[in-house]
Amino acid sequence: MPVHEMSLCQGILDIIEERAAVDRFSRVTKVRLSIGALSHVDPKAIGFGFDVVTRDTVADGAVLEIDQPPGQAFCMACSSTVTIPTRGQPCPSCGSHQLMVVGGDELRVDELEVS
Ligand SMILES: [Zn+2]
Repeated sequence: MPVHEMSLCQGILDIIEERAAVDRFSRVTKVRLSIGALSHVDPKAIGFGFDVVTRDTVADGAVLEIDQPPGQAFCMACSSTVTIPTRGQPCPSCGSHQLMVVGGDELRVDELEVS
């Protein structure tokens, strides 16, 4: 298990436990995550790490659902938002490298199903 993903899983668990304390639930049955295509995070490693860090916690046995939003960047040359597969790629419309990433680099807890 890569240390990076492990600490991210720990961070996700921290978020869940904070919400559990605020909203007073004791069981999480499903967790929806967004892991952007540009986030440098391997969703498979997150899935594995999540099972490990949530053992004996409020999220033990919770189903993990992972959305992978595509990378999005604003191209200064065409003044429009384009989809890019990875960082460092040129604009697919005009070939410019003047791109500013505007989406798909997130790692976020979107939704919790609790009981
Ligand atoms: Zn462009």
